[in-house]
Amino acid sequence: MEGDEPQDDGSDCLLSFADVCKDYGEDGSALRGMNLDIHAGEFLTLLGPSGGGKSTALMMLAGFDTPTSGDILYKGQSIANTPAHRRNFGVVFQTRALFPHLTALQNVAYPLRMRGVPRAEATKRAREALARVHLAPLVGKRPARLAAGEQQRVALARIMVFEPDVIIMDEPLASLDMDLAIRMEEEIRQIHENLGNTVVYATQDHTEAIALSDRIAIINAGAVQQTGTPEALYEEPQNAYTARFMGETNMLQGTVTSYDEPSCQVTLDTGEEVTATAINVSGAGARTRLSVRPERLIFNPDEMQVPNRYKAKVLSMDFRGDHTVVHLRLASETLLEAKIPNAQAENGFGTESVIEIGWRSEHCRALDPPT
Ligand code: ADP
Ligand code: MG
Repeated sequence: MEGDEPQDDGSDCLLSFADVCKDYGEDGSALRGMNLDIHAGEFLTLLGPSGGGKSTALMMLAGFDTPTSGDILYKGQSIANTPAHRRNFGVVFQTRALFPHLTALQNVAYPLRMRGVPRAEATKRAREALARVHLAPLVGKRPARLAAGEQQRVALARIMVFEPDVIIMDEPLASLDMDLAIRMEEEIRQIHENLGNTVVYATQDHTEAIALSDRIAIINAGAVQQTGTPEALYEEPQNAYTARFMGETNMLQGTVTSYDEPSCQVTLDTGEEVTATAINVSGAGARTRLSVRPERLIFNPDEMQVPNRYKAKVLSMDFRGDHTVVHLRLASETLLEAKIPNAQAENGFGTESVIEIGWRSEHCRALDPPT
């Protein structure tokens, strides 16, 4: 499933994973042939489930672990066996790992002192870095006296202060509550915009990945499933795994009956005929999964523009704050979920009403077969 986007010529490729494998003998494999190019200055996120291989990949990038096979390249040179302290990379982990006996200021000055920067200069730069993450009033406090979000900001300042070529962040917001995580998201994005360094980030949360990233690599079972901008991965998934991981979607199983690029006809297992965009199907007779995002369902569709139209019963309407989710059932028992603006939900139909719904073929992607 690799290589579904054009490979660039490597000119602005800063880091590459080239067929990287990591085996743990009888314990299995964490990475199974990972390929990924990371460009200078971009914010690249590894997005995938727990156990997908994100931390293993980041630890190798940081130099805390080595591949079983394959290579990691930095500016075209192998760094697979270069120790961590000889790469000018900064790493932020989920747990903040600050020195408990040092103040925030001393924690942030530490990497500079390690690099031989004189004390006065190191202190000055540490103060500036802490001011950038809005911690100027707290520089004298030890970690135990700081809230979780403040500790995470100290950890960020401690990385930024030595201006690393690459910043590696492994689920840095996972241990924070939601409000704080959203504010930290904003700060991380600001820091990246201001400093322009390359960030390699890992998360399991697709909304976080979408908000932060220039590009996302979906990683599962130790390999990259698809790489692209947040919008491309959300709107143009190449496989069912990516479609599901990027957000809610209606996934319908069926068989391709005819195939005429770019579209195909599919008969669902529940009987409906659907015109879809052929993305990942081999031809007539192939099994496929159709993905239609809930916000792409159209109520009372226009016959001319919407080839896929069905009678549906409204099972329930769930108010979700900024939108309403409508649960629908077709005559065949197929269940669908639609997302509509509240204003639309307030007039016209309610639970138990029978309406017509539909979707355009360009919003219905025929993906890989069910497993
Ligand atoms: P993620 O960060 O995406 O949650 P990890 O990279 O931590 O995933 O783990 C990927 C897989 O490798 C998991 O199945 C994990 O159990 C396994 N793994 C990680 N480290 C080791 C290890 N030291 N020994 C054996 N298996 C490991
Ligand atoms: Mg991890």
